[in-house]
Amino acid sequence: MATNLTGQDACKASVTLIADRHINASSSGNNIFVNSGLENLLPNDDELAFIIAHEIAHIILGHSKLSRDALKVHDRRLAMEVAADTLGLRLMLRAGYAPESAASANAKIAHAARGSISKLLNLHGPYMAPKDRSTFLAQQAAQAGSENTLQ
Ligand SMILES: [Zn+2]
Repeated sequence: MATNLTGQDACKASVTLIADRHINASSSGNNIFVNSGLENLLPNDDELAFIIAHEIAHIILGHSKLSRDALKVHDRRLAMEVAADTLGLRLMLRAGYAPESAASANAKIAHAARGSISKLLNLHGPYMAPKDRSTFLAQQAAQAGSENTLQ
């Protein structure tokens, strides 16, 4: 029996490091952009993998092709961020990275951006409140790990 597998668009995604001290990452089309400020904040590969996996998830889920107007609807945007976190954790796990690192990456970003919430709301906001997001990421990391043992 033959099974046809179709490739995901994200397989074609490229990642570009941008010399910009602001702590941010984004995706547009099939391109992922990571600012050097964020890369410097997360020298741990597992934490940086979460950032890239989150952006790949946006591409897979079609979020990076939506118009700016579509991205302005708060509740829709929040649901997209939750979906990108949920899928991103599973992508990083399958790629051999520790999904538990997502919560610590989030905590570092929140700490670095405190007093400047607008940075967090830049291109891919709004997220949940930082503590709520870290809790969610830790819960999803544990769940993703248990799913992985079923294979
Ligand atoms: Zn996002």
